[in-house]
Amino acid sequence: MIAEKKYILATTVQEAIEQAIANKGNFKFLAGGTDVMVNKFQGNETSGCLIDITKIEALKGITKQGNFLRIGALEILEELKFNADLKAEFPMLIEAALAVGSPLIRKTATIGGNVLCENRCLYYNQSEWWRESVGYCLKCSGDICIATQGKNACFSELVSDTAPALIAMDAEIEFIDENGTSRKKLEEIYSGDGVKPRNLSETTIVTALYLPLNRSFKTAFFKLRERESLEFTSLTTAVAIDKNNKLKIALAGVDPKPVVVEGNVNDDKEELIKKAVKSARAVDNDMYSRKYRREMISVYLKRSFERLS
Ligand SMILES: Cc1cc2nc3c(=O)[nH]c(=O)nc-3n(C[C@H](O)[C@H](O)[C@H](O)COP(=O)(O)OP(=O)(O)OC[C@H]3O[C@@H](n4cnc5c(N)ncnc54)[C@H](O)[C@@H]3O)c2cc1C
Ligand code: SF4
Repeated sequence: MIAEKKYILATTVQEAIEQAIANKGNFKFLAGGTDVMVNKFQGNETSGCLIDITKIEALKGITKQGNFLRIGALEILEELKFNADLKAEFPMLIEAALAVGSPLIRKTATIGGNVLCENRCLYYNQSEWWRESVGYCLKCSGDICIATQGKNACFSELVSDTAPALIAMDAEIEFIDENGTSRKKLEEIYSGDGVKPRNLSETTIVTALYLPLNRSFKTAFFKLRERESLEFTSLTTAVAIDKNNKLKIALAGVDPKPVVVEGNVNDDKEELIKKAVKSARAVDNDMYSRKYRREMISVYLKRSFERLS
């Protein structure tokens, strides 16, 4: 029997959370839909209910709040480049947003959806027919990781391009769940487990991202991909140095969660690079080999430090 399919349009955060609780275990929030709908068509996302959150006004807008710039979770990636505050203080976020997918995707994709985008792996992001023929892996109810042949861990990669840019600039994330409103450092929501890559409960609504104002960030951003457009990352590096010489590196594409290394501008750069490479648990589940991507971490970070010196 085909399960009933439901579409619910929520107009407030409260309503979205109530509907989420009512449909627990069988729903997905729908923002731009450029990730969730692709996963549905590929059979990786099977929940029967979509809760559309795109009409919730509280998730929109870019405003200054105290020492932070608040970016609503529904802000569209392609439109970030028109915001004067982002252009003046956080151009790396615009650069990262413009590195996502293609113009058509970016005109629909939201920043909230981007930091929550599902992890990817060459052996998982395939058609149902393909996955059935090779045998299912840990991320789709199988009992082995096809990439590593291990039985204990999934290393599907975090592929968000805006997450490393935001994290390097000390962004915070605000969300609402059954327990009320919380705010934490963005990197803290990522679990490191490729099967369930985030620590957030299923009914959590991400409301906004916050970037700290007046830190005078100097930044460098690089993305490794096969084509300059329409391509997920094989490695994204973001480096930021603030006016107090605090240095922060964030990587995506080489681990189930962001790789984060913090230091000071006077620290030994070779040591910082070594630490980043050592922390990245890349496996052979990408178009580029694990070895090549790990070598490229050093190449991109050296390039970043040269640009920032
Ligand atoms: C061909 C192609 C190329 C792509 N290339 C890239 C790329 O280069 N880089 C990249 O980073 N991504 C890429 N993507 C993935 C995707 O387009 C982006 O990550 C996009 O930003 C996702 O945003 P969205 O609003 O469409 O998310 P959706 O698909 O609507 O949602 C994504 C996930 O987040 C949840 N969600 C969304 N918003 C909220 C919220 N406010 N609160 C709680 N949960 C929420 C959804 O339930 C879902 O699980 C690509 C996709 C395609 C199809
Ligand atoms: S890393 Fe392994 S378990 Fe995870 S999606 Fe890929 S093949 Fe599956």
